[in-house]
Amino acid sequence: MVTDWIKVARRTVQAMQPYQAGKPLEEAQRELGLTYLVKLASNENPHGPSPRVLNAMTESLSDCNRYPDANGYYLKSALASKFAVDVEAITLGNGSNDILELVASAFLDHNASAVYSQYAFVVYALAVARSGAAALVAPASNYGHDLNAMLALVQPNTKVVYLANPNNPTGTYFSHNSLAVFLRALRSDIVVVLDEAYYEYAQAADYPDGQLLQRSHPNLILTRTFSKAYGLSGLRVGYSLSHPAIADVLNRVRQPFNVTSPSLLGAQVALDDDQHLQQGLDTNRAGMEQITTGLDTLGLEAIPSAANFVTFAPGIDAARVNQALLERGVILRPLANYHMPKHLRVSIGLEHENQKFLNELPAVLSALK
Ligand SMILES: *Cc1c(COP(=O)(O)O)cnc(C)c1O
Repeated sequence: MVTDWIKVARRTVQAMQPYQAGKPLEEAQRELGLTYLVKLASNENPHGPSPRVLNAMTESLSDCNRYPDANGYYLKSALASKFAVDVEAITLGNGSNDILELVASAFLDHNASAVYSQYAFVVYALAVARSGAAALVAPASNYGHDLNAMLALVQPNTKVVYLANPNNPTGTYFSHNSLAVFLRALRSDIVVVLDEAYYEYAQAADYPDGQLLQRSHPNLILTRTFSKAYGLSGLRVGYSLSHPAIADVLNRVRQPFNVTSPSLLGAQVALDDDQHLQQGLDTNRAGMEQITTGLDTLGLEAIPSAANFVTFAPGIDAARVNQALLERGVILRPLANYHMPKHLRVSIGLEHENQKFLNELPAVLSALK
């Protein structure tokens, strides 16, 4: 008899769905028979990695018979000096995704609950589901986090709140003052994860200063990543800044070698390459203008975004628009798994990539009408 392994798995795992990953770019290209494909699907830096990062990593590969430094000494030192924090405040992750999971493994079990927002980054739901804790999902307001609604859901057994700022996939952000009010009203023994994966892109004057808030709220964890603005998604490096006592807890559940040696070095070099970072931010600002203006010209509604992507409603069946764009060589992200079946998310690319999207979209829309 063949064993049904799903039934053998933990109950929390039985309820989970596998992550739906996209096809590799080359495979999609081959299947569609297209030579020019534009990938605007994963909020990556369209310039690629810094050449300085590539050089340093290439040289270091000859040491890959050795285990990486389990404490990430050099990367942590670089982060500590950049952000003026103690090395003990830093936790390194295999992407910031890893840190989001570490928080769940360290603080949540079936007796606990965690709060996050409708339309929030999907990893919170996955991490909470796997832990066995109850998920308390607050309704969104204009697709953004409603911090008051989140506060209202807090229970005596709540141990973690996940906040995405800016949020993916909606691009919305909340202000410093609204976060300060939220933190003052929340029990101080609840861990608040402020996911700042798009921190470098967020330029608004009222964007929260998380480090300032940490001084009066040691329960606040900031998570950031090298995957987005730094252009190193494939290396999987993220970090958190927190009170050292929280970092100590996270380090107990962390795999000792969770960040590889090329990744540690690549991230360290990237942190120092301000010019490459700035180039990406400038491209993003111009591209955001290009795409939002283009969508506006087509009369399509977009959710205002503080990040490197825009979510918009094409007005007619989004799944078909997505498929038709794919067949014309433009890869976007459909959002049905976020319960936003009418929306599509487009990442900001290079000027000619954005233009390709803006050229194909009206053709698709009129063909499907
Ligand atoms: C991309 C993203 C992350 C995590 O990315 P990593 O590659 O794991 O660092 C975390 N939060 C949000 C909101 C994201 O969009």
